[in-house]
Amino acid sequence: MFNKINLDSILKELEPYHAKLVAVSKKKPASIVSEAINAGQLIFGENYVQELVAKQAELPPAVQWHFIGHLQSNKVKQIVPFISMVQGVDSIKLLKEIDKEAGKCNRVVDCLLQVHIAQEETKFGFDIQEAETFLQSDSLSQLKNIRLCGLMGMASLTGDTQKVRDEFRSLKKLFDEVKQPVAGTAFTTLSMGMTSDYKIALEEGSNMIRIGSALFGER
Ligand SMILES: *Cc1c(COP(=O)(O)O)cnc(C)c1O
Repeated sequence: MFNKINLDSILKELEPYHAKLVAVSKKKPASIVSEAINAGQLIFGENYVQELVAKQAELPPAVQWHFIGHLQSNKVKQIVPFISMVQGVDSIKLLKEIDKEAGKCNRVVDCLLQVHIAQEETKFGFDIQEAETFLQSDSLSQLKNIRLCGLMGMASLTGDTQKVRDEFRSLKKLFDEVKQPVAGTAFTTLSMGMTSDYKIALEEGSNMIRIGSALFGER
């Protein structure tokens, strides 16, 4: 079920921050995504390639699809023709693969580097030092079919709000350090915050939140 009341209240909360909403529709059928589209939402986040490709074929071309999961290099070619942004770029190898496939379809694909800020071992991503080193190198300038638009991160899943806040703050600090002139003029997006922690993320400088369960219910 799609929750229009929550959509409206989240959009209102975002206004003072000039932040964007990515509606995370993973594991929800296209019919439910349609309800959100009818309510005016056009940016959707998906985690699984098969599922995304199927929904993209069913839904209007005006939808902007963001890939927010862990993307395997061998699946890049399936989404590159239509993807609006790849948020979870967690390795240089993946970035190079996206660049290569984007070149084949004459596209420049918007990407966010995923940075590991949580303490859990299982989270993918660059650590802060790696991201900084990569962004300060000139490796990026060789990837002509990538537009690096910013950073994405996930905080620890914990009730310890101070810990969550500190993790978001560490990502904002990195973002401020590497944005212009280091990373270029397109580098403007800081994607952090999900249903359980987006208010903290906004207070700590997020300008893009990724919300699933508050809009579509539990998965
Ligand atoms: C599933 C997911 C979300 C949305 O999580 P909710 O808690 O349902 O809001 C956000 N970001 C990423 C990377 C996800 O995988």
